[in-house]
Amino acid sequence: MLKAIQILGCSSSSVTQRWKPLSNQGLPSIAISFKPFSSFYSIPFLKALPTMDSWHLPKDSVPRTQSRPIHASSACSDSNPDGTSSSSPPSSSPAVQSSGVRNIKFCQWCGGPTKHDIPEGEERLRAICTVCGKIIYQNPKMVVGCLIQHENKVLLCKRKIQPSYGLWTLPAGYLEIGESAMEGAIRETMEEANAEVEVLSPFAQLDIPLIGQTYLIFLAKLKKPHFSPGPESSECRLFSLDDVPFNSLSFSSMVVTLSMYAEDIKAGRLKFHYGIINKRPGTSPSDIHAYTLDNHMQSTC
Ligand SMILES: [Zn+2]
Repeated sequence: MLKAIQILGCSSSSVTQRWKPLSNQGLPSIAISFKPFSSFYSIPFLKALPTMDSWHLPKDSVPRTQSRPIHASSACSDSNPDGTSSSSPPSSSPAVQSSGVRNIKFCQWCGGPTKHDIPEGEERLRAICTVCGKIIYQNPKMVVGCLIQHENKVLLCKRKIQPSYGLWTLPAGYLEIGESAMEGAIRETMEEANAEVEVLSPFAQLDIPLIGQTYLIFLAKLKKPHFSPGPESSECRLFSLDDVPFNSLSFSSMVVTLSMYAEDIKAGRLKFHYGIINKRPGTSPSDIHAYTLDNHMQSTC
């Protein structure tokens, strides 16, 4: 994984080096025996999704409006993948950043009230404790999960918690302190789908700067052909790619991940992907299709 990131990090818009998985974690044989994707791609919004070719283009060459907005029924945004509440997210946008910082009213160490100022030597507005003087930094959170392949299908969970109650997701959630990203993805899969999995390779890293999240999704397979809904899921089901409920997914990150996966399967080759999901200005946070995928880079596994 580290190698993959390092390779990606040194390229501005495309990746030519191959990412090689560990020798004992080779990719599974790619199931290219899926049905033709004609029906899959007949879904209107998918026609509007960026093609792999357009994803290769430098950011400035990619149209900012790449997907037609569809008003999904989800009530919340990507900001809470595991149902926990959060304050306003950090962002490179000064306005959003400031509002997030201003939501921090009290010091997390001593409970003292905070003031909001730009510390000496820094450039960003921070919450600073007026009692102990500590600066409260906000940093992005990492969300980890698994894309589980089983008999030419993928495993999705129907959320039994808010946000996005009743919508479908890959098993994923916030990484905990003390665990690796891979361990976290395996844990989340067990929690949400009671499924014991073996991670095969990293599949996608998706940054969502607006809400301060990075998704890291791993390809995985079931160790045993058993799964069932965990406490946060009302249902777990295997979907063929023709049947993935793209209009009933929980978050934009899931739309992007599953679209990338479908494209890779269609092309007969799985890749590692990096991309930045930017919400289109003026759209609802709950509109999971109102995004652009920028700086998409990919390497062959
Ligand atoms: Zn304090």
